[in-house]
Amino acid sequence: MAFEGLTERLQNAIAKLRRKGKISENDVKEVMREIRLALLEADVNFKVVKDFVKQVRTRAVGSEVLESLTPAQQIVKIVNEELIKVMGDEAVPLNHSKKIPTIIMMVGLQGAGKTTTASKLAAKLKRENKARPLMIAADVYRPAAIEQLKILGKENDIPVFEMGTDVSPVEIVRQGLAQATANKNDYVFIDTAGRLQIDEKLMAELAQIEELAQPDEILLTVDAMTGQNAVEVAQGFNDQLNITGVVLTKLDGDTRGGAALSIRAVTGKPIKFIGQGEKMDDLDVFYPDRMASRILGMGDMLTLIEKAQRDYDAEKAKKLEEKMRENTFDFNDFLDQMNQIQNMGSLQDIIKMIPGLANNPALKNANIDPKDMERTKAIVYSMTKAERENPDLLNPSRRRRIAAGSGRPIQEVNRMIKQFKQMRDMMSKVSKGNFGGMEQMFGN
Ligand code: GDP
Repeated sequence: MAFEGLTERLQNAIAKLRRKGKISENDVKEVMREIRLALLEADVNFKVVKDFVKQVRTRAVGSEVLESLTPAQQIVKIVNEELIKVMGDEAVPLNHSKKIPTIIMMVGLQGAGKTTTASKLAAKLKRENKARPLMIAADVYRPAAIEQLKILGKENDIPVFEMGTDVSPVEIVRQGLAQATANKNDYVFIDTAGRLQIDEKLMAELAQIEELAQPDEILLTVDAMTGQNAVEVAQGFNDQLNITGVVLTKLDGDTRGGAALSIRAVTGKPIKFIGQGEKMDDLDVFYPDRMASRILGMGDMLTLIEKAQRDYDAEKAKKLEEKMRENTFDFNDFLDQMNQIQNMGSLQDIIKMIPGLANNPALKNANIDPKDMERTKAIVYSMTKAERENPDLLNPSRRRRIAAGSGRPIQEVNRMIKQFKQMRDMMSKVSKGNFGGMEQMFGN
């Protein structure tokens, strides 16, 4: 999961202000020094850091903060807004052509994740827009690359156009596009060759493909784990091709986060998608505001809700939201949620998206055993219908019966019920738009 170190350092820097009723310019200076170090340590481009710190400092020494009774919160607000700005403010959607097909050319260094991302994106368009994409295998230097694209195509039921390795990439693209037109494919992905580093020959070839295909989108994939190097690569590609957007891959393995924070500011090109795992589902639209929340440890509830909604019907989601707001979320909903969460992926990653839990020290390095969830479920299964619907019924004798029925110690039953009630309260606050968690987090 990205940004752990940065999140912790930013929070520590801000936490120092927490008990001060009012703060001085010197306090602001001190916190800015720490924010600067935190960003540099996260491998953010130094020019970006310099501008960022300058912006935040200018705003922070203004009267809105110095005269505020909650200076730490004001600074969090400013840092949050400036983080959003540095990452480009708004999510930038994929370009679409007025006539079909929309042509998307994938470029990037070898291993950055082009082939995987092309397939993820094609699968996403198919899933969400009922699109009929075609993928063209134009990396003739690595037979394995063609094979990989064919496998991913087959797994996702997406046709792949290929002509082996003996035909020039430009010719493959020409014929692939002709086939897309004949078959009325609405999206075409061109998977191009990568190298270990930028070289002239490759760039010339990519420029030729660009010239021929006139793509609506040239998506550069860069590996977030390579930090500043990813930013340099982005700059290199951007100098020679008309890059229209960036996909930042492997954010799941990037603990520093420098690339995410630097690419937009350095290249001027938007990050459009982020890859957060090897599975086909692990590609998300890049939202600067959600990313800023995550960096500040404020969670990313929206992405979480979206993930949940992927296999959720709208009616049910609406009811759930009402229940959360009205504090009537019961054990049946809880069971439903647990089953859903288990389908959503690693629990650690999910926890980090929940405001208030995101940086809870008690959950740091928490190693959540999937068996724990099964035990919790066993406890819920031992409740009667009435008890599940009305957790307030759970008096000591009922709890003893549930403990016996589920084979779990009574202390565990008590703890689980207590945690359930706390969670219900927190959800109710969050869904009413009261992000009270933040105050607790920063001790204000
Ligand atoms: P290409 O050479 O640019 O086409 O790169 P590939 O698509 O072959 O990807 C290289 C490796 O990175 C593969 O093992 C992918 O599964 C993996 N990969 C791609 N995107 C992600 C991601 O977002 N997260 C993780 N963890 N792995 C990824």
